[in-house]
Amino acid sequence: MASVPTSTFTQVPAPLLGNEGVPAAMTFNWGFEMPDGSRFSDDQWTLLRHAAELFLLSLRHDPPEGRMPLRKETIRGHFSHIRFLARWMAAENVRRFRDLDQDTVGRFVAMLRARPGRNGALLSLSTAEGHLGTIRTFHMQRDKLDDAPPTAPPRAASVGKRHWKPYGGHPYTPDEIAVPLISGAIELLGDPADQIIALRDRLADLYERLRPRHQGRMLHWHIRRAMLAEPCPCADRYPNPEWPLRRLAFMLDRLGDACFTVIAYLVGARASEILRLEEGCLERRATDEDGEEHVYLVGTITKTSLTEHGDLHRWLAPEPVQRAIHILERLSAPLRELSGEKNLWLHQLGRGRSPLPTMMPVARLRSPMVNVRLNERLAPFLALPDHQGGTWRLTTYQGRKTFSRFIGRRDRTGLTALQRHLGHVHRAMTDRAYVGTDFELAELIDEQAAEETRKALEDLLLAPHVAGKAGVMLSERSPFRGRTGSGDVDAYITEILAETDMRLGVCDWGYCLYRRETSACLGGEREPNPVLRTQSTCSSCANFAVTDRHRPVWEARLERNTALTQRDDLDAESRALAEARIQESLRILAQLDKGNADGVRD
Ligand code: SF4
Repeated sequence: MASVPTSTFTQVPAPLLGNEGVPAAMTFNWGFEMPDGSRFSDDQWTLLRHAAELFLLSLRHDPPEGRMPLRKETIRGHFSHIRFLARWMAAENVRRFRDLDQDTVGRFVAMLRARPGRNGALLSLSTAEGHLGTIRTFHMQRDKLDDAPPTAPPRAASVGKRHWKPYGGHPYTPDEIAVPLISGAIELLGDPADQIIALRDRLADLYERLRPRHQGRMLHWHIRRAMLAEPCPCADRYPNPEWPLRRLAFMLDRLGDACFTVIAYLVGARASEILRLEEGCLERRATDEDGEEHVYLVGTITKTSLTEHGDLHRWLAPEPVQRAIHILERLSAPLRELSGEKNLWLHQLGRGRSPLPTMMPVARLRSPMVNVRLNERLAPFLALPDHQGGTWRLTTYQGRKTFSRFIGRRDRTGLTALQRHLGHVHRAMTDRAYVGTDFELAELIDEQAAEETRKALEDLLLAPHVAGKAGVMLSERSPFRGRTGSGDVDAYITEILAETDMRLGVCDWGYCLYRRETSACLGGEREPNPVLRTQSTCSSCANFAVTDRHRPVWEARLERNTALTQRDDLDAESRALAEARIQESLRILAQLDKGNADGVRD
């Protein structure tokens, strides 16, 4: 690998210069003010400034191994962290980056911990990690630079989460969007994907056949005429039927979007990890414990890695993900051949899209482009519904967040489509071993489980109307019952969670305050038995709780079964079942109503 020169800035060689012969690092304002009133561009800071400039240049032109050259906006983020660090170093009389040893970095972390964030609150975990991440990246470049930090700083989360304001900016995709999104993507990757790729291959054949006989406009005219006659799946979703080649290019891109969606939502990998996947990344292997065979997606995690190579990681790959990888391999084959790269997300730069390789430069797809494609192309293509009266904005991160929510929930009834798609690997995924070295995913899953439990407890403690044995018991002891909200309820919940090992499952028809001893569905050590967990079993279980939030489910069940009993053609067994369900629903609803009438429950 080429290394970045370590001498002075004036000797930076041409390849490290930007397009106009101006180093990218030069476009930042290095004349910022230092604690002593001087400017960082003054002579006294020359050594430190040049080291910082070379570091930023190296990110663009010779990034840490396994990482793509950073875009200018990302380098700008590193620049602002370096500015912050340089000022702190000056105040602490630390004159070179190589003096950032463990103790000094420890003092830097202590300063961050004591530093308030916005509105006087704690500094956010992501801001702290941003500062430390820049030092870590600088450290990774140490062999290429004269002056660089000798040790990698700790991760902000490992310093103690209570010191930082937690992450919270990334939402998960709501169920009403996630289900049609994932189902639509999986559907597209079925037969339509085979037909679309076959159409592309036919187009390549057509060119082969017609090129010896026609050229230029005539060639294009014949190709277009032949392609107009070819049926294209989902053709009605492309606005201009007169342009069969653009339509085909559009469809090929949607296949790529669908592949991204399926992998992100069913595997939980970050966008950067998905976009780094290469040909042949599926691997079949038996698990150590029971010898059961699973298929894995093999890639690398670099974001939280302490090495520049990233950490090898295996994600369990359910069948739709395996299919997405096979489709990606076929989609990317022509550009992989053209470029000699193994990456599965190659595309060609330049305006206009062609279904076949052109002379334009080949590049890897990046997250911002995926974001644009998901929102501006795939969402309308799949006709995703509105969310709360507006358009839901998808981001590349939402797949990971939605996945961790799904795995973190002890019940997945609201996401049955996702559960079905995860198939038999689902059990292995809920096993903690699944997250392996992806510690952030483990945290996300824990956070999700804790948040769901908290929300459910709050609902149960405040609800004026509660049904189900466990619900009634908890609610009767609740000092907050029937209130519209209370600041104390938070502290109370924290106390309950600290004192008990309460595991709370959330499903469409109620809450499960899980205890194995009283579990009517004969659940295991940690959670209910998904096979026997039904509305009927829960309705008589000592662990069950219902609030008004679940009333619509029980009302609909009552209505459905009442309608069933009115049918003449119902056999005796089905009638008995329907009547039992009616009684169960009536009992739950009566308990809720009783709370309505007098605020007291039996
Ligand atoms: S039957 Fe009981 S333990 Fe099982 S899920 Fe329902 S409430 Fe929970």
